[in-house]
Amino acid sequence: MQLESIRSEAKLKFSKCKSREELEALRVQFLGKKGSLATMLKGMGALEPEKRKKLGAEVNSAKSEVEALIEKAKLKLAKKAEGKLLREKIDITLPGKNPAVGSLHPITQTANEILEILSHLGFDPVRGPEIEHDFYNFEALNVPEDHPAREMQDTFYIAPEVVLRTQTSPVQIRSMLALEKPPMRVACFGKVFRHDQDATHSPMFHQIEILCVDKGISFADLKGTLTLLVQRLFSQDSTVRLRPSFFPFTEPSAEVDMSCFSCKGKGCRLCKDTGWIEILGCGLVHPSVLKTVGVDPEVYSGFAAGLGIERIAMLRYGIPHIGLFYDNDLRFLKQF
Ligand SMILES: [Zn+2]
Repeated sequence: MQLESIRSEAKLKFSKCKSREELEALRVQFLGKKGSLATMLKGMGALEPEKRKKLGAEVNSAKSEVEALIEKAKLKLAKKAEGKLLREKIDITLPGKNPAVGSLHPITQTANEILEILSHLGFDPVRGPEIEHDFYNFEALNVPEDHPAREMQDTFYIAPEVVLRTQTSPVQIRSMLALEKPPMRVACFGKVFRHDQDATHSPMFHQIEILCVDKGISFADLKGTLTLLVQRLFSQDSTVRLRPSFFPFTEPSAEVDMSCFSCKGKGCRLCKDTGWIEILGCGLVHPSVLKTVGVDPEVYSGFAAGLGIERIAMLRYGIPHIGLFYDNDLRFLKQF
């Protein structure tokens, strides 16, 4: 019988239904105005009342069956959607994947710390070129033609008059020339280059140069500045001592030692049993350097000091070999 085949077709199709769109299409196919059940009722008017009644009842029962099938399929689809949502649930409480983060190199850290301390004393950070003209690196700094620093074994020459700067001091000259008139306080951090290599020397290393020019600047200002610097860097009870020395661009000049922070001056391996550690060179700016940059040495005076950053970092962290700074070994670098 035709109705029977409609029923079995509906059962099969609804059981295989996979989406809401498909379900709607099936509903129209069976229950729609032009659907298969409605078609069954066509021409019913020509039947005898008895048969008409029977057919009507059968079609109605088939209609209920299809409606039940629709409800069942809907439920199945809903359960499926729920399962999919559960499977795709994102646990926002799980920790994220952190990107690998590096850290500042110990040289950069040390330099930043020194510049920070100096900034509290009014020193502005300045920069200068690493390839420098002879005039800035030597001549303006009162380094005469026959000074040993000019010899080929100490200095890397790029051209006869052009060098890789051997010190950050040329930035003093550039800063003073750029300035209309004192006062000035600058601190320059950067790379310097010398033909020198052993456990504590490298052909490339870093310096911070400090320069202060004003009326009435004396050795007392210099010593006060350096004392505060080593106390902040090493230990609150550090002291400095100045030994007479010679630099062409300062007069008088001094080597600066600080009291050994390890043995507090009693004598140990670090300070070679002297109680003192040499840390930098300094002095009052030579009058002829001031004259070169157009500053009247009768009115103004100044002090300058140069610190090797590697040396400071090696002392602070107890690093035995300067090469460790440049090997890029993460086992070393991760300690800072
Ligand atoms: Zn010591």
